[in-house]
Amino acid sequence: MARIVMKFGGTSVGDIARIKNVALRVKAEVDRGNQVAVVVSAMSGVTNQLVAYCTEMATLHDAREYDAVVATGEQVTSGLLAIGLQELGIQARSWAGWQIPIISDDAHGKARIEDIKGDEIIKGMEQGHVAVVAGFQGVAPGNRVSTLGRGGSDTTAVALAAALKADRCDIYTDVDGVYTTDPRIVKAAKKLDKITYEEMLESASLGAKVLQTRSVEMAMKHHVRVQVLSSFSDAPGTLVCDEDEIVEKALVSGIAYSRDEAKVTLIGVQDQPGIAAAIFGPLADANINVDMIVQNTSHDGTTDMTFTTPRADLERALKVVKDNMKVPYKSIDTDKGVVKVSVIGVGMRSHAGVAQTMFKALAEKKINIHIISTSEIKVSVLISEEYTELALRALHTAYGLDAA
Ligand code: ASP
Ligand code: MG
Repeated sequence: MARIVMKFGGTSVGDIARIKNVALRVKAEVDRGNQVAVVVSAMSGVTNQLVAYCTEMATLHDAREYDAVVATGEQVTSGLLAIGLQELGIQARSWAGWQIPIISDDAHGKARIEDIKGDEIIKGMEQGHVAVVAGFQGVAPGNRVSTLGRGGSDTTAVALAAALKADRCDIYTDVDGVYTTDPRIVKAAKKLDKITYEEMLESASLGAKVLQTRSVEMAMKHHVRVQVLSSFSDAPGTLVCDEDEIVEKALVSGIAYSRDEAKVTLIGVQDQPGIAAAIFGPLADANINVDMIVQNTSHDGTTDMTFTTPRADLERALKVVKDNMKVPYKSIDTDKGVVKVSVIGVGMRSHAGVAQTMFKALAEKKINIHIISTSEIKVSVLISEEYTELALRALHTAYGLDAA
């Protein structure tokens, strides 16, 4: 007997027929003798619609009321699934965040879970009851409804699995696992049997949208084994787990890319102490994320400073820099047509030459590299967007990831 948290995303509960299909999957798990708790998302498209309603009421709206509105999507699916399970003869009930409770902080719209009181759900599970929990929501100080940020049901599921000391958290979604790279671009992409938390965290934050980044952080912290799998097939999925559960560690497990990048270069900046602080301080104050940063050594008393921001923030970033630059500079250059491509793998901690394979593969395809950055388990390059597909395919082959 195992204790399992099953989570179903928006497309998996997209209409009544699909919710009935989910009920059958849950029943199958119960019939196997397992203790089960379920977390559901809103039906696909519903949360977007609810967000749009709030914006239509007022562009600048009260974040607490936004949460009151958008949390309703999950409440609908939790009730519907409970009905579906009861129809199959299973004892089930729905749980809203405040009923458990799932206690969060008061950062409305992107609240963090602080505590989950799992006792009642555990008691029920031990008697064969299935708890159907509304994902994405919690209760904030002052007894207000909170939500956990878009995609937050993943985090609900992992946090609940930790609180219930579950053996596994199964995340059912519309892809059947985690791939070596985007299979829509590289036909030879392979599904991974296992991936480490660290690698998954890198790929989630580098643009792969399989799991909410926060849910991976949470899984890593609490050692929750997470399985990503499809609710539309019976194929085995990908297990996200601790490194020591993986016997054969690949040097590179995957290649991620993000098109959400823009490059800014300040040309001829006076080279003196405090220039980085003068440029990046105001950007941080304006809540603009800066990712890659390159500053060259100066030759004539000036230097070029290049950095990247999310594409949508480029105009704002430019304004902030121009309004706040106290240090003289010659001009500013920008480029929206760039993409960041990253190779990821825990194996590179103990191997030299991983970056060189990347540089060589790109050189052979005559792809110019604008910026390079590295961390312990990743090498990222910024290249022109038109080369995205070519680069992904070349790198996939160069690291021996192509399916046989
Ligand atoms: N329904 C929410 C969203 O669309 C939460 C989730 O699905 O994970 O972002
Ligand atoms: Mg999702």
